[in-house]
Order: sequence, then C-alpha cells, then structure tokens
Amino acid sequence: MEFRRQLVECMASLVSQGLMTGTGGNASVRLKGGNEVLITPSGVYKASLKPEDIVKIDLEGNIVEGAHRPSIEWHFHAAIYRKRADAMAVLHAHSPYTTGLALAGRRVEPVTIEAVMLLGDVPIIEFMYPGTDELGDAVGNAMMGHKAAILLNHGVVTAGRDLAEAITIAEVLEATSKITFVASHFGGARLIPPDRIELIKKLNKV
Ligand SMILES: [Zn+2]
Repeated sequence: MEFRRQLVECMASLVSQGLMTGTGGNASVRLKGGNEVLITPSGVYKASLKPEDIVKIDLEGNIVEGAHRPSIEWHFHAAIYRKRADAMAVLHAHSPYTTGLALAGRRVEPVTIEAVMLLGDVPIIEFMYPGTDELGDAVGNAMMGHKAAILLNHGVVTAGRDLAEAITIAEVLEATSKITFVASHFGGARLIPPDRIELIKKLNKV
C-alpha cells in the first residue's frame, strides 16, 4: 500500500504545482522482482486518486490486479523499465514551461547548479501520437543515459531510482525552464561557464 499511496500523493502534488492537469500525466513504480509495475489508471481524475485506483500490470501491459485500465502511456513506462535496470520509477507530466520552451526550439541549459547536477542533457522527442508503441520505443531509447526527456507538443518524462527522485527531476526541470523563461525576457540567461560545469560534475561525481 506504501507505493500506491506514494503514487496518489505524487499525482496530487504535481497537479497542485501546475506540472500537470487532472487528466494529463501518469506515474509508475516498479515492484521487487522487476517485471511488475504499479501505475496510475486511465480515465480517473488524477488530483483525487485513491490507493485502490492504482493498477498492477506486467511489462507487456497485461493487468495483473486492479479495477481500472492502466494509463494509456504504459508503453513508455514499460519500455524504460525494460531498457534500464536502474529505473524503479517513471513519471510523465505536462509541465507547461518546459513544453513551451521546447516548442520554441529551446534546449535545457545549465542555468543553475541543480540543472547541471540533476538534469544534464535532456533530449527532445518529435511529436508522436500518445499511447502508441512507436512513442514507447522512442521514449525508451531517448531515456538511455538520460534522466529526463521532453515529448514535443506534449510534456516530459523522468525516471529515477525511486518515485521521490523522478518527482525531483520533474520539479527541477520545470524550475529550470521557468528561470530560462524569465531570463529570456531580459536579454537571455548567462549560463554557468563550461569549465565550471566540469568542476561541479567532478566535485559531485555526476
Ligand atoms: Zn501525456
């Protein structure tokens, strides 16, 4: 029940922070053993989920336990878990600043130490229809060696060793985009110089 409660709290928190709407966004946690996942349901308002609404599926999308259908984006959740043994949680949000900057052709840049340490390079995936194997494969490939990816015209995906890490990455990504957005209105952001970035990475073993 602990993971189910974490998923419910995660969705409510992301809605209240404006990183997703009540209908857009989903999260999952991989269970011990590696082949089963707890995931948020499809078609249930995300801000008022209950632990019993969470669905258990296998990595092929079959329902193991639950009264609802799994999120239609189970494809990319499963693709990340299949490709990355270290990933134990996956999060998808419709973060408006990050999505908007990507639409304008802006990449995530090293504007803060948090961005350097927690995000690194964030790939952008071309628009693909939600809930498809095609998007699943593209996200699975993009997330190899990356903590987050941006889905063009759609939102963001993050992965972590646990749900807290996946949430933190999504929050830092959106905060980074807000800072970039503010700076862009006053002539653009002064980035951390490349040699300092290397030093930050070395000191923090990133
Ligand atoms: Zn979505």
